Amino acid sequence: MLQQTQVKTVLPRYLDWFDQFPTIAALAAAATDDVLKAWEGLGYYRRARFIHQAAQRIVSEHAGTFPSAFDAILALPGIGRSTAGAISSFCFATATPVLDGNVKRVLKRWHGKPDASDKQLWLLAQQAIDASGEPVIWNQAMMELGATLCSARSADCDQCPVNEGCESAYRIAYAAESGKRVKVRNIHWQVHLHTCPQKGIWLMRRPDAGIWAGLWTPPIIELDHAPDSTPTHIHQLTHRRIHLYPLMSDQTPQGEGRWVQSIEGYALPTGIHRLLEKVVL
Ligand code: SF4
Repeated sequence: MLQQTQVKTVLPRYLDWFDQFPTIAALAAAATDDVLKAWEGLGYYRRARFIHQAAQRIVSEHAGTFPSAFDAILALPGIGRSTAGAISSFCFATATPVLDGNVKRVLKRWHGKPDASDKQLWLLAQQAIDASGEPVIWNQAMMELGATLCSARSADCDQCPVNEGCESAYRIAYAAESGKRVKVRNIHWQVHLHTCPQKGIWLMRRPDAGIWAGLWTPPIIELDHAPDSTPTHIHQLTHRRIHLYPLMSDQTPQGEGRWVQSIEGYALPTGIHRLLEKVVL
């Protein structure tokens, strides 16, 4: 939940989540729609689907008990090597490193290897955590160091507790570090708004793959190029900038969908919420 969302926003949502799904079994038995609704506004909805699928897998393959073996954790949907390392070390005290963006940066700087590959970094991380004898503390310390003193924007080497052994201490060249930029593609979507005082608004469920997978939106048509008009709302994703152009329609809606009196019970992407606030509500 904390990926790209602030702690103060997440906290009440985290508590609500456990009110609604107090156990793995309860989450596994929940309808996908309810899971997505509980995740609404947190973005990256794929994670909600993965957590749901993981809960179902734990019920069907591990009798409802979270597995303790690293390979079994890694096999769960949505869990990669670094997350499996974190869960395994924090919950079961194993010497399995976390290698997220922060930890990679600290390792690269500390070893003075700005171009180290992931393969090399996994090896360095494993050697270090083995040598530490305190895998839980090592993982937490590395994540914390990367999030605070040794961040992407600055390196407070004066305050750093490991500056003596650090190859890069006081010599960080930020420009040289930030090699890869995320390429953002502009897309233009016409959003067909069928509304009716008696029936509400026509919504369709998005396909299970792609942007906003499984969420509910009005019918959307992708345009080949930007129209002359200004988009009513622009929604930014990591790799996409979605320009939304509403089109009020009084024609009978086509395709699989439903009239919805209240959007309360439906998981809508934040971009569509913002658009509806501007044009309908
Ligand atoms: S000494 Fe500076 S560059 Fe090295 S780990 Fe500490 S903060 Fe990062």
